[in-house]
Amino acid sequence: MNHYKFNFYEKKEFVSVIKIEIPKLIEIYDQEIRYYHNYCKKLPKDAPRHIEFREISKLKAKLVEGLTEKVDIDFGNNEDYVSSFSMKIVRKIDFHSIYCKKCEKEYFKNEVCFTDWTTGSGLAASGGKSVFCLNNHFICGFLEWDS
Ligand SMILES: [Zn+2]
Repeated sequence: MNHYKFNFYEKKEFVSVIKIEIPKLIEIYDQEIRYYHNYCKKLPKDAPRHIEFREISKLKAKLVEGLTEKVDIDFGNNEDYVSSFSMKIVRKIDFHSIYCKKCEKEYFKNEVCFTDWTTGSGLAASGGKSVFCLNNHFICGFLEWDS
């Protein structure tokens, strides 16, 4: 199976590289593309949603290419759609592995530690998970709910 990876930042500090199987991201792009076909077809060509659709289609083509040519894809710091879409997979804990920059080591998801966090209270509360490597370095975090 081929993978793609992207860099994860915490407060602008580069902490890890998250690796995910290519078909999982293609699935999310397909959902977006279907949504576009259903709701956005009549929009003008310069509408933000249309520009977004073109970008998503380009990224999807790149992923399909990686899959057919059996190569891994490194998105690095591409913030446009890659990390926000990928985080949908990370939240389901469906990633392949995370490379900890401090350890300079790759950890599989069964080797890392997940901790729940909450902040605020009442209607201004939110919660999520933090991910730590075996040496207790923070390597990823995400929001799961918001009141
Ligand atoms: Zn580490």
